[in-house]
Amino acid sequence: MSTQMSHADWQRLAGDLRFETRAFINNAFSDAASGETFETINPATGKTLASVASCDKADADVAVRHARQAFERGDWSRMAPGQRKQVMLRLADLMEQHKNELALLDTLDMGKPVGSSLGDMAGAIGCIRYNAESIDKIYGEVAPTGEDALGLILREPLGVVASIVPWNFPLMMTAWKIGPALAAGNSVILKPSEKSPLSALRLAQLVQEADFPEGVFQVLPGFGHTAGKALALSMDVNCLSFTGSTGVGKQLMQYAGQSNLKRVYLECGGKSPNVVFADCKNLDAVASNAAAAIFHNQGEVCIAGSRLLVENSIREEFVQQVLAHAENMQPGDPLNPDSFMGAIVDETQHKRILDYIRQGVEEGANLRLGGEAVSPIDGGLFVAPTVFDNVTDQMTIGREEIFGPVLAVFGFDSEEEAVRMANDSDYGLAAGLWSQDIDRIMRVSRRLHSGQVFVNNWAGGDQTVPFGGVKQSGNGRDKSHHSLEEYSELKTVWMTLATRD
Ligand code: NAD
Repeated sequence: MSTQMSHADWQRLAGDLRFETRAFINNAFSDAASGETFETINPATGKTLASVASCDKADADVAVRHARQAFERGDWSRMAPGQRKQVMLRLADLMEQHKNELALLDTLDMGKPVGSSLGDMAGAIGCIRYNAESIDKIYGEVAPTGEDALGLILREPLGVVASIVPWNFPLMMTAWKIGPALAAGNSVILKPSEKSPLSALRLAQLVQEADFPEGVFQVLPGFGHTAGKALALSMDVNCLSFTGSTGVGKQLMQYAGQSNLKRVYLECGGKSPNVVFADCKNLDAVASNAAAAIFHNQGEVCIAGSRLLVENSIREEFVQQVLAHAENMQPGDPLNPDSFMGAIVDETQHKRILDYIRQGVEEGANLRLGGEAVSPIDGGLFVAPTVFDNVTDQMTIGREEIFGPVLAVFGFDSEEEAVRMANDSDYGLAAGLWSQDIDRIMRVSRRLHSGQVFVNNWAGGDQTVPFGGVKQSGNGRDKSHHSLEEYSELKTVWMTLATRD
């Protein structure tokens, strides 16, 4: 996405930024109790941006106590829905006012192109508005009873919700979690990724300005094994809503079992199939979409279309077209609005991607493009768009989530084979399907084991539709009114009524 601001405008704005680096607990900013900090680094330049409070169990315990007190006081949980809505709309307006700055913080912190970060801001603000507007439109139910009873089914907030989010869409994932959780009346503690804490802390300043009651929204920057684990093991957190890797998702379920059986909603990893049938129209446009499906956000996307399944009769022609589009998706300075890809989040992830590429070559896949680190900026971490053909489902790059700009192309000969290959994965987050045959589209859509199926598009959808996975991609649903339901309990009130004197 290109922006109205030029490369120089973004560079200037970046130079003027001041970072909030302290935790946000009970409406005040404070250092971690231990005084510890960690560095957050701009992966496009290798330069340290800031030292951020490194919260641990001591801070988590304090935040949970404030969250519980706020919940019991009721100044948010029992606030009239129409009033809660006004506070959240104020927050959305402030986010809108400061969207360039919020977008820039995500770009500096984790390396994505600033145009893409601005797109995330539209999603994040839209999510807060949607949930704010929903608050006073949700009704309870009256059960169908005889006249000697009245059965009320009430929706009530859960209590304290801990939201643990990743670095790939820092503020948008945050909004998907906190929007519905706050709207439902819960107290929320946010644990941003240690790789991208800055936009969450700026959001906390906006929450303060929007005048949320104390303890209703708090931010604990810190590591997963300290701050995150403490929240997950807390006996007084009622719900964990998580977006991140499948491995950590599994740990969180164990923590819930070891503590208080808190609800655990998981949005985890993927290895999504993008299936192209020979009958689809305008192959070149499909190829452009297939390339963007993996190279958008440097491939650091849970729903990246990382497995491209192409009908063998068009495969070579189609792969050529994908390669031509991929050539034009090279990484560049994330502050340049014309860059399609930016930097890889950190050295660990950069090395991991290059290791997968090496393994792909060793296991016999055909490297058709890229396959190496590139350096549009000295000291930055970048990887060229990489395409492997002749991948098989036995190869590591064909099965594991790489979370980088690496596309694995497979061939198939029949619809049956395409469905079998698409479903042959531990994951089930997204699937793409390109065809002009409506009968085939309906048949295949129903058979794909996936939380969402994109037909003749990739990553389509807006705030009105749920987003989430099946199998080891998780169990939660972000967005739409279904996400709001996840953050409330159903309570039954059964009243006995006298039918006559
Ligand atoms: P990650 O699992 O390493 O970390 C996610 C969050 O969990 C971070 O805040 C981290 O600090 C925290 N964490 C780590 N260990 C923890 C522990 N023991 N206890 C509590 N918290 C802990 O994931 P990541 O590298 O930040 O993000 C990439 C992953 O996220 C990919 O697998 C990607 O597919 C997934 N993701 C999924 C979706 C979705 O909607 N399904 C969206 C975006 C990203």
